[in-house]
This record gives sequence, structure tokens and C-alpha cells, in this order.
Amino acid sequence: MKNFYDLTAAELADYLVSKDIKKFRAQQLYKWIYGQNETDFNNMTDISKTLRAQLPELLSLDLPAMLTEHISKDGTRKYLFDMGEGRSVESVLIPSGDRLTLCVSSEVGCNMACKFCYTAKQKLQRRLKASEIVGQLLGVSSKLPEDMRITNVVFMGMGEPLDNSDEVFRSIEIMHHSWGLNMSRKKITVSTSGIVPEMHKVADSGARLAVSLNGVNDEVRSGIMPINKRWPLTDLLQACRDYCDTTGDRVTLEYVLLKDVTDSIEDARALYELTKDIPCKINIIPFNEHPNSGFQRPSERAIQRFQNALMDAGSHVLRRKTMGRDIYAACGQLTTVAKQQNDFQPATV
Ligand code: SF4
Repeated sequence: MKNFYDLTAAELADYLVSKDIKKFRAQQLYKWIYGQNETDFNNMTDISKTLRAQLPELLSLDLPAMLTEHISKDGTRKYLFDMGEGRSVESVLIPSGDRLTLCVSSEVGCNMACKFCYTAKQKLQRRLKASEIVGQLLGVSSKLPEDMRITNVVFMGMGEPLDNSDEVFRSIEIMHHSWGLNMSRKKITVSTSGIVPEMHKVADSGARLAVSLNGVNDEVRSGIMPINKRWPLTDLLQACRDYCDTTGDRVTLEYVLLKDVTDSIEDARALYELTKDIPCKINIIPFNEHPNSGFQRPSERAIQRFQNALMDAGSHVLRRKTMGRDIYAACGQLTTVAKQQNDFQPATV
């Protein structure tokens, strides 16, 4: 028995053929399940009765259950999904203009140990299967009114996506396939802390690349992101250039502003120097404070000064709005808060 949602269209076709079922049934199943949200094989009227009776023994349609939904005053929605054995992950839905972006998790916890990150405190507990990633998209979509549709997906939730690259790229294939969800590859972004040897796979997949940069020299970056000791800035930035050369796209560089750590005018100028030959846009993200992080959010004045210095130098800069502060929208926070509050029973969502 396989989980239907773990299989790309090609894998599903191969699996069916291995069971003496015609290949074209894969297309029918994709269309029914992803295209029409039909999850009862009995209702799939263009499939023979004999096969309809056989399918439940070959394919499960299990998806992670949604535990809670929190809606922020600013319109951000945060969802908690059950991953079994008391574990959960979160997804965040962020409205912005005509875009509706879903931030999905790829792992329960994370081993990258970024010092400013709440998820890092939970350590890696397990990597998600493709069905559990696609399941976040399907689960959240099912909660939305007819006229609201998720337009973009970013792998920026819990976990380092390139630490789980097989399942992440499998889920991208599934989201993209024209028989099913038909999401453009360019509407999917993979954000990495910098697992350099895996970064070429983002270009291969057709998805967009975002890199969590956060430091302008190896000393600062290694101090807040231990992964930098393994793959320092020179290697990381070369991988960014390679991505741009291969795809013709820009890379998005994420830069968290931490008071007195990464927020000086000198840092802004150094950031420009470091990235001026890379086709990129830089997202500056004022730190979203959480208890016992040991870091502070810079003052509004310092944030503005940093942004202006970077723009004056010539960088393409966007300031990411801090969304959902009242529902703990920083990476990994909802899970921890829910755990503390014993809020893990399936709730009415
Ligand atoms: S910021 Fe991302 S990569 Fe770093 S510890 Fe948190 S979840 Fe992992």
C-alpha cells in the first residue's frame, strides 16, 4: 500500500503498471483527486467498478489532520498540523496584495541550529514525507472560501528544506503537475540556510531560490548560523551566482536585522559590496522577538537607517513586513506555544 499523495504522476503511473493497471489511470486519479477534490474512489465514474474496488487496497489517501487555525489581526493565518506521536508542524498563510502565499514546513524541528530561530530549539525530530508537505497545501486550501486561492508556496516554515531534498523536490513535482494542482514552478520558492552542495537542485527543479544570509562576514554569520562553518560565505555566494547563471533568475537574499549584531550602517554597506555582482533582491527582516532568544529587534530608526544605507549603495531592497506577531508567526513559535499550553487535541478548525 502506498500513499497517493507521496507519488509524483510518473511514480504513480509506474506503481499502477507494476500492479497490472493501465498507465493512463494515473492521469484519471490525479484529475479526480487534485483537480476535483474527490477522495472517494467509488465516485470516480470513468474508472471501472472492478478497479474502483481494488484501489483502496493499493492507495491510501491519508493526509495530516489540521489541529488548529489562528487568525491574526493583520489577516495572516497560522495552522498547526498533526504529524503523529505528539509532533506537529505549522504552515502560515500570508496575504499580500493579490498574492496569497503559503509558507510550508519541511521537517519537524531542525538541526541547523540558527541562533535566532525558535524551531532550532526543537532539534530535528523527523523529516516530512511529500504527502505531509502537499497535505499542508491541501489542508489550508480546503479552509479557504471559493474565491480565495493560494498563489505561491514558500518552503520557509519549520525545517531546512535542503536537508530533506528528495521529499521537498518530490512535493514540488506534485504541486506543479498539470493533471493536478498545476502550480507554476516559478510560484514556488525554496529557502535555504545554505546547504551548498544541494543548492543546484533548486535550479534543476525550476523553483525559485531564497537564501538566508544574515551576516556580512564569516565571523558574524558563523556566530549566528553554525552552518556557515561548513559552507562559508564564499561558497554560498558562488552557489547563488551559479543559480542565477543557470536559471537567468534573481536569487532572494533574506537578511534578519538583529540589534547590535547585523544592523549597523557598516553592515549595510558591506552587504552591498558582498552582493553587488549577484542578480538579487534583498529582503530585510526586522527580528520577530520571542522569549529567551537572546536577541532584540532594532529600533524603527535603526531599521530605516539600515534600509536607506543599502538602497543608497544601490541594492534592490524590500522590507518584509512582520506579519502575524499576535499569533506567533516567527519560525516555529506556534508549535512551542501550543505545546506549553497543552493545546494539542484536535480542535474545531
Ligand atoms: S532558521 Fe530555518 S534553517 Fe535555521 S534553524 Fe530555523 S528552521 Fe532551521
